[in-house]
Amino acid sequence: MASDENPFHSEIPGIDLKGEERFSGKVLADWAFDGEHILSNVLLEVSEGEITTLQSEVDVDYLNSKKLLRVSAILPGFFNAHCHLDLSGINALGGMDDFKYEFTDGFTEWLEIVRGYRPQESPKELKNAVRLGLSQLAQSGTTGIVDFSADAISLSELESSAFNGIILKELIGWSSPRDREAINSARDWIEANSKNLPAHIQLGLAPHAPYSTSKFLLEESVSQFPNYLQSIHLCEDPGERELLERGEGPFKEFLNRLGLEVRLDQIPQESPVEYLDRLGLLTPRTLLVHCNDLNERDLDLIADSGANIVFCPNTHFYFDRPAHPLPMILDRGIPVGLGTDSSASISGGLLSMYEELHQVRNFFPDIDPKILFKLSVGGLLGEYWRPPHCLKVGQIANISLWHHTDDKPSDFISLPAYCFLTVSQGRCLYKHPDITD
Ligand SMILES: [Zn+2]
Repeated sequence: MASDENPFHSEIPGIDLKGEERFSGKVLADWAFDGEHILSNVLLEVSEGEITTLQSEVDVDYLNSKKLLRVSAILPGFFNAHCHLDLSGINALGGMDDFKYEFTDGFTEWLEIVRGYRPQESPKELKNAVRLGLSQLAQSGTTGIVDFSADAISLSELESSAFNGIILKELIGWSSPRDREAINSARDWIEANSKNLPAHIQLGLAPHAPYSTSKFLLEESVSQFPNYLQSIHLCEDPGERELLERGEGPFKEFLNRLGLEVRLDQIPQESPVEYLDRLGLLTPRTLLVHCNDLNERDLDLIADSGANIVFCPNTHFYFDRPAHPLPMILDRGIPVGLGTDSSASISGGLLSMYEELHQVRNFFPDIDPKILFKLSVGGLLGEYWRPPHCLKVGQIANISLWHHTDDKPSDFISLPAYCFLTVSQGRCLYKHPDITD
């Protein structure tokens, strides 16, 4: 596509989102993470997209002479448990880096700026933005994606791609007559798109957040879609607690600025986590996004419910938030994954799960690298969200191959590394231009 037709220049060399080529090859690696363990001196063989050999402690010197594809590391594909692909074009519209430290009301001001971007893009530009986000994720070893989609524009792009995708239609509305239309249109969307859905795609709902989604919408999303996956932003900013417990704070002013009244009967006078629990939204099918501001009682309620959490480290860094409760979440055995969130809350705007892994390591250098690898490939999520991302003979390959400058797994996370190949559903999503057939 000529660049004048595509303002986002989404063409990255080596990307094939459709994955036309099934991967076959023999790979020799210094180490690999198989989903549970770190293996050394590994031979991996993939035939027509299926893993046929996985051996560790092989004779590297002997095999080196066989001219195999030689890499530092083999990982299962990363699982990006939270993003908004349709915001990936935001850099072309000016980006969000300059706004980082200019906030007075912080988070709500950021929300208003991002809301203002969306209408500037045509459906075609939004599709280009989705493709740009997918290309960035493919280039950095991601094979599974959970996408919050305002108008579900990412569905067709993910359906025709080789990614494993969960597309969640966003529900948003603060007690207006339009809330019923929103729930009806979500039901119509699910009914229309559930037929003939490819096996690599799932549909669900994303009530946006307790401060932006009315009680009516939250209750309807539980009662009308009990068997669907649901995800919601929760406790991203302390202002959410102020709004729900006392009807005060920056979110009240934010809603007022949008012309929305905050009535006393809309204030549950409980914490955001207690509120979602009472409405029946905390279940193993639920994925709670961020959960930055949790107290002990919130953690207990989430642990008892079986709900999942997703931590977005670079977004956390962008907003300069206090330490995330990830260690407490891991200690309690709460299912948890990692996500990029959108280009609007990452310095530089680039979606990369490798960079998220790098950032979580910066925040928590004492967490065992094995746990961090497992977190990044979705292996610590609960059964409804956990992807089949592990290295096992007989499995369809969802893998990424990497080069880095030292051969220790812990250095992979802390040193710059680059992705050489990403294979999703056995198909090549990304091949570094240095790879020759
Ligand atoms: Zn988000």
